[in-house]
Amino acid sequence: MSTIDSLPPLRDVIATHELSARKSLGQNFLLDLNLTAKIARQAGDLTGCDVLEIGPGPGGLTRGLLSEGARHVLAIEKDPRCLPALAEIAAAYPDRLTVMEGDALEIDPLEHLTPPIRVASNLPYNVGTELLVRWLTPPTWPPFWQSLTLMFQREVAERIVAKPGSKTYGRLALLSQWRADAQIVIQLPPEAFTPPPKVSSAVVHLTALSEPRFPADPAVLNRVVAAGFNQRRKMLRASLKGVAPNIEDRLIAAGIKPTERAEQVPLEAFCALAREVAKT
Ligand code: SAM
Repeated sequence: MSTIDSLPPLRDVIATHELSARKSLGQNFLLDLNLTAKIARQAGDLTGCDVLEIGPGPGGLTRGLLSEGARHVLAIEKDPRCLPALAEIAAAYPDRLTVMEGDALEIDPLEHLTPPIRVASNLPYNVGTELLVRWLTPPTWPPFWQSLTLMFQREVAERIVAKPGSKTYGRLALLSQWRADAQIVIQLPPEAFTPPPKVSSAVVHLTALSEPRFPADPAVLNRVVAAGFNQRRKMLRASLKGVAPNIEDRLIAAGIKPTERAEQVPLEAFCALAREVAKT
C-alpha cells in the first residue's frame, strides 16, 4: 500500500465515509497514491504555486499535489459526501487546502487564488471538455493559469494533441495548440480507476504560451476553424463560403489551396486565413 503522507489509505477513506462511486458525477477514483503523486509531478514545480483542482473526490490527487509541495490547493467538489474526507486532508496540511463545495462550471475560483497558478485535475468526464475550452478562451491572454495538467478520456486527449492529417485533428487541437504547448504525459488503462471506466484515459499537460503562436483575432480564427470543421469532408472553398466574400482569393493569399480540406490545414495557415478574412 502506498504511503505519501500519514493519512489512511484511500480504500479505507472510501469505506469510512461510504463514498460509493456515482456515475452521474463521473466518479472514477484513483486510489494509488504513487500514481496520484506521479500525476502531480507532471504539473511541474508546485512549490510557490497555488493549484486549482476540480473534483477532488476522496482526495487522492489532492494528497499528491500537497505532498509534492503545492503552496496552496483550492479544490472544488460537487459531491458533499466527499467533504469530511477532504477536511481530514486539510487538517493534515494546515492552511494549505481550501475546499469549496459546488459546481465548477458555476464557481469563479479566481478570487481565492494567488498567482502563479497551476491547474491539476482528474476531471469529471462530463464537464472536462467544457472546462478546458473555457480555460483556453479567456477574455485576455495570458490566462490566469501557467499550466493545465488534466485527465481525459484517451480519445479526447488525442484530439487535444492531434496534428494535421490525422482523423482526430479539429477545433480542439487548434484551440489548444494556438496558445499553449500540449502533450500527453501519462496513459492509463481503465483498471487504474475504481470503478474502472469503459475507456482508457490519458493525462494531458498544457503550458500557456506568453503570446499566441501566430497572430490572429480569436473570434475570427474561431469562426474560420468552426466553419472548416463543421463540414470537414468538404473542400474549404465550399465549407468557408459563408465566412467572407471572395473566399477563394483569401485562401490563396493565406497560402491554402481552395480545394484542400480543413483536416489538412496546419495551425499557421488557419491563422494566416483568419488575418485575410479580417481584412475588409
Ligand atoms: N480527483 C478524484 C480522483 O482522482 O480520485 C476524483 C475524480 S472523479 C473522475 C471526478 C470528481 O469530480 C468526482 O469527485 C465528482 O464528484 C466531481 N465532480 C463531478 N462534477 C463536478 C462539477 N461539476 N464540479 C465539481 N466537481 C465535480
